[in-house]
Amino acid sequence: MIYRGIAASEGIVMGKAYLYTKEKVQIDKNTIPAEKITIEMEKFNDALTLTKKQLLSIRKKASHELGEDKARVFDAHMMMLTDPVFLEDVKELIKKERINAAYAVGKTVNKFVDIFSSIEDDYLQARKVDINDVGERLVRNILGIAADPWQDLTEKAVVVAHDLTPSDTSFLDKSQVLGIATCAGSKTSHTAIMARSLEIPAVLGLGDILDKVKNGYYVILDGIEGEIIINPDDEQVRLYLAKLKDYTENKISLQKFVNLPAVTLDGKKVEVNANIGTPRELSTVIANGGEGIGLYRTEFLYMDRTTLPDEEEQFLSYKEVVEGLKGKPVIIRTLDIGGDKNIPYLHLPEEMNPFLGWRAIRICLDRPDIFKTQLKAILRASAFGKVRIMYPMISTVDEVSKANQILAEVKQELFNDGIDYDKDIKVGIMVETPAAAMIADLLIPEVDFFSIGTNDLCQYTLAVDRVNEKVSHLYQPFHPGILRLIKNVIDVSHKHGKPTGMCGEMAGDPLAAIILVGLGIDELSMSPSAMPTIKKIIRNISYEQSKIVARHALTLSKGEDILKYVKESATDF
Ligand code: PEP
Ligand code: MG
Repeated sequence: MIYRGIAASEGIVMGKAYLYTKEKVQIDKNTIPAEKITIEMEKFNDALTLTKKQLLSIRKKASHELGEDKARVFDAHMMMLTDPVFLEDVKELIKKERINAAYAVGKTVNKFVDIFSSIEDDYLQARKVDINDVGERLVRNILGIAADPWQDLTEKAVVVAHDLTPSDTSFLDKSQVLGIATCAGSKTSHTAIMARSLEIPAVLGLGDILDKVKNGYYVILDGIEGEIIINPDDEQVRLYLAKLKDYTENKISLQKFVNLPAVTLDGKKVEVNANIGTPRELSTVIANGGEGIGLYRTEFLYMDRTTLPDEEEQFLSYKEVVEGLKGKPVIIRTLDIGGDKNIPYLHLPEEMNPFLGWRAIRICLDRPDIFKTQLKAILRASAFGKVRIMYPMISTVDEVSKANQILAEVKQELFNDGIDYDKDIKVGIMVETPAAAMIADLLIPEVDFFSIGTNDLCQYTLAVDRVNEKVSHLYQPFHPGILRLIKNVIDVSHKHGKPTGMCGEMAGDPLAAIILVGLGIDELSMSPSAMPTIKKIIRNISYEQSKIVARHALTLSKGEDILKYVKESATDF
């Protein structure tokens, strides 16, 4: 059977399925005789020591492999193990009620969870997960059951899970994981980012896939098309082996473009940059020949945690990326949350239309405390390389002026404190609302550059929810309405002698690249693995030819006709 989900990390793999379900341990309740109380107390104390040791080692590993921000999850776990009320409650149950240690821990954990559940507070709701996690680990250690849920993954397999949390992935041994398939998740979810950065093929959003596959079933996972095939027949195996061969050969042939610039046959240079979500993706960017970072989605630093990252933590993350790029440009986008990206501890209100609601720059302008902290961290990082700042979701001139006003205040504060930053830092905006594209001429005097965010621009212009499968056929980046807006934005910026880039998914589409080059785009930013293909395309076309293609494409009235025409033109190059 073939199941379709979201193609989150490319590649094709075949192998046995490993179901990662993290079943809870069954704990029996035993009454212990008085003389055995000391033994149970010892069991509890030993397990406590072992659990602390394990957490310290996981934290270290997580900090190294996933970054300090994700490692902090384990600080909350550690806090639980030293909480005097928790410890006292467990000991009381063992001593006074003569209950076995494992049951006493389970009961106390449930009591804490119940208390937290009864209080309507997102922070406490998030802590519930931490308490359950650490309680389970403690119980496993008392009972002598391995606390590492990956321990049964002893041979290479495709991991099938409901979702993978940062704590799950910190255990994950890359050499054993062929691919990842999950019920939940989206292209920009933690698991997707993680899979791409580790270059593990992944298909997410597979719904009830856990009900369809059992441990040891043979599966094919296609992270290019976003498919998983359970117990394939011989014909399917042959088909996918052939696909895998093509994919591998293509990847090898693209290697020669990695370190070449994207210059057309007649000498027009286009900057090819990478989109990233965390510093961990740097190695993939460099391995694929990124000339810079065109979009650093900073919101991932704010996710999977219970409090805002402070200035120092943000500064260290930004600095790591900036230094890793060794003088190449890094466009750091300020916080873009809301829409489909929620941060529970910020208590974003439930909204009828979250994509049209309180998100991105709108939140930042209403919460200058959050915005200023981030701007300060970015400015400080700018002293270590070539940083540019970019505001998301702009729809009015006023928003840019207000954001720039706050930026000026933050610069002044840093100056007063004698803290170094790039005095000449360039500031741009994402053009991702139709309004911004239409008033590009009014916005350009306020900024140094534009970057077109087609993911949102398509959603808003075509009135098509970017995450709704039902209307995905209407989501057409080649729609004439989109191309006209893109042309307007590029033309306006050039009239003012300023560059326009693109960082939406369209930038990594080889056919779109032909039109975009023809329209005069200056920079394309995409997921790292797409860069060699785009460089190859650009190196094989001439600017003059692509201008002709773009001009003709803009005379056509349907998205599908434009796509067909560009496909045909591409075969001539
Ligand atoms: C976009 O909207 O095109 C974009 C790049 O931003 P995001 O996908 O993070 O909304
Ligand atoms: Mg966007």
